[in-house]
Amino acid sequence: MQKRTKRLSIAIVGGGFCGVAAAWHLLQIPRARVTLFDKAFIGAGASGAACGLLHPYLGKNAFKSVDAKAAIAETQKLLQVAQKAEKLPVANFNPILRYPKDETQKMLFQKRAAENDDLSWQNGALWIRSAATVFSKHYLRGLWRACKQNGARFVRTCIQGMDALPRFDITVLAVGKDIAQFAPKLPLKYTKGQILVAKKQGELFTHSLMEEGHIALTETPKVYHLGSTYERRPTSLGVDLSVAKKIILPKIGRLCSIDQLSVMSGRSGVRVAPNVGHYPCLKQLRPNVWIITGMGSRGLLYHALFAKQLKEAIE
Ligand SMILES: Cc1cc2nc3c(=O)[nH]c(=O)nc-3n(C[C@H](O)[C@H](O)[C@H](O)COP(=O)(O)OP(=O)(O)OC[C@H]3O[C@@H](n4cnc5c(N)ncnc54)[C@H](O)[C@@H]3O)c2cc1C
Repeated sequence: MQKRTKRLSIAIVGGGFCGVAAAWHLLQIPRARVTLFDKAFIGAGASGAACGLLHPYLGKNAFKSVDAKAAIAETQKLLQVAQKAEKLPVANFNPILRYPKDETQKMLFQKRAAENDDLSWQNGALWIRSAATVFSKHYLRGLWRACKQNGARFVRTCIQGMDALPRFDITVLAVGKDIAQFAPKLPLKYTKGQILVAKKQGELFTHSLMEEGHIALTETPKVYHLGSTYERRPTSLGVDLSVAKKIILPKIGRLCSIDQLSVMSGRSGVRVAPNVGHYPCLKQLRPNVWIITGMGSRGLLYHALFAKQLKEAIE
């Protein structure tokens, strides 16, 4: 008689970059049955507000992020999965150009270009060749479509805290800013961010551009994401266009003439980052409860690598 393998029921709470990537990886465990819970919809949190910049040279010093090569490789794999399922481009793979804000940063960027194979210094900018600009909504939709094709199901409901976790063999909490409701003692900090969605007249940009602010390509020609704000004491968590314009437009003024832009809308979300450093958090909270959080501004860089590590820890 053939021996039947016991199913492993997995609940994932949260349908952002982390939750959907976790669903994809956990579905690769042959006996896994994956259910994704979200209180709203796929991409309702910070992931739906992201500018889409994927690269490992963040911060004023542009140091290469820890595990950058492996992290980018894992994100690239998921972009391919999503693109295949979505049948539409989910990212632009042109290098991102990072302009220095002053002479000191210029010298630093030139040093970084000499240190790293995926960087070059050309026409006054640091060219990041390992970068991509991800069209977050298309990416999430495509990756979730691939998960559904592999048997995942979606339940729209708000899980009200640890005592209300669904009864599954394993539960993964990928709830973004709401992790504070489940694990209030984790050493994390929370920063509101907003971006502007704007149409530009005249010449098209072929690369996403960064300086103090950034202009990111989107799936729609002539429409760009302008970013972003870092609001530590916001008066609300929703879109506040007057605050966003006041902070963002002066920052992108050196990349493009503001007169050519017409702001159509805005998006907001909350970045959750570790109190110290930038490396996210994958943690077993209880024998059957895992959390994946703390992506900060590096969600696109790290989510796929951490989702893969989660699968390796569980299987
Ligand atoms: C303005 C802005 C711009 C950004 N730009 C970039 C960028 O260019 N590049 C980059 O790499 N990163 C960027 N980031 C950071 C990136 O967006 C985050 O790191 C990433 O989205 C975090 O993903 P997540 O899956 O952890 O959380 P989220 O995307 O916030 O997902 C959490 C999900 O959980 C659901 N949820 C929460 N609580 C519950 C509950 N109790 N029950 C059920 N469901 C629940 C929510 O509805 C949500 O869908 C940006 C962030 C912001 C705010």
